[in-house]
Amino acid sequence: MGGLPLSPPNPRPDAPPLAVVGVAVLDGGGGPPVPGQTVVAAGGLIERVGPTDEVAPPAGAAVVDGTGATLLPGFIDAHVHLDFYPPAQVLAGGVTTVRDLGWPPARLAALQEGATTPGASPRLLAAGQILTAPGGYPTRAPWAPPGTARPVEGAVAAARAVGELAETGAAVIKVALDDRVGPTLPAPVLATVVAAAAERGLEVTAHVGGAAEAAKALAAGVGELAHWPFDPAGLPEALVDALAEAVVAVPTLHIDPTPARRAGTRRFVARGGRVVYGTDLGNQGPPPGVDVEELRLLVEAGLSAGQALAAATSVAAAHLGLDDAGRIAPGARADLLLVDGDPMTDLGALERVRLVTRDGWVAANSAG
Ligand SMILES: [Zn+2]
Repeated sequence: MGGLPLSPPNPRPDAPPLAVVGVAVLDGGGGPPVPGQTVVAAGGLIERVGPTDEVAPPAGAAVVDGTGATLLPGFIDAHVHLDFYPPAQVLAGGVTTVRDLGWPPARLAALQEGATTPGASPRLLAAGQILTAPGGYPTRAPWAPPGTARPVEGAVAAARAVGELAETGAAVIKVALDDRVGPTLPAPVLATVVAAAAERGLEVTAHVGGAAEAAKALAAGVGELAHWPFDPAGLPEALVDALAEAVVAVPTLHIDPTPARRAGTRRFVARGGRVVYGTDLGNQGPPPGVDVEELRLLVEAGLSAGQALAAATSVAAAHLGLDDAGRIAPGARADLLLVDGDPMTDLGALERVRLVTRDGWVAANSAG
């Protein structure tokens, strides 16, 4: 298996210095906030983190008063369709990195171009086209513009499609296995997709309808569920337990918070399954920015508040191969989210955004 994709290079490494003073820091690792800190960023990176009486803002830095506020890493949303909202609005809502899980190449290219301005868009990773069976989901889905799906017939075509997606910079390979609305990739073709992706150091993430497709994905070596499966009948417990051993789940509960999806995610978490935060932004429910309801549903599913916040920061960064994002520490990217109050005791604090920076650049339309 090859390495994970590298972090996108910082497109604008000349960000001016900034200091947030007297703030509580949630470093993204899941632990409690550390009060009375000063965080200094310069050149797009976090330079210093320490007690306010020990760390002075450097000359010329923009100084932000952090009194009564918490500073945490900008959120990483592992499942979006970014084009449904102005990217600047998503960024200003506290999301500094997104992974787009399905969009036509030409429209994605325009979003990628926009994402080279760090104050105007989240950092953008993308799957590109969704591999599916001819006539399968989402070839006829009303939300999906033409070219969102790439139907593939047979293993040769599937392997070629993976190669082309990898060459255009795909961060992950997305497959649709929705047996509720159309045909799905046969198991041998799915196995070919997984093998072709692995040759290029890429994981496969699957949109799954119900239990049969979840079992197929598991057997083929799919590494991630892009949603908790949708079937209101739920999954057999033994299958959930096997998934917990083998895959990462991006539950996206808010878009469809059925009892079966919530219970399945709860069992997955209880069995040690790894969860990464993602919203399916563009679908009904999640707002542009941090989705507090998704976090509340993850907590209901058994994560602590700290674990839910880590799932959207340090854990998401590690899963996506972004070793320098998702934490508040010297040397990390200056992706900062400053909110009023303490999200560990009140997730609603995440809707009270004071400041967002990406790569050290202040997001448009935030109150700095
Ligand atoms: Zn989606």
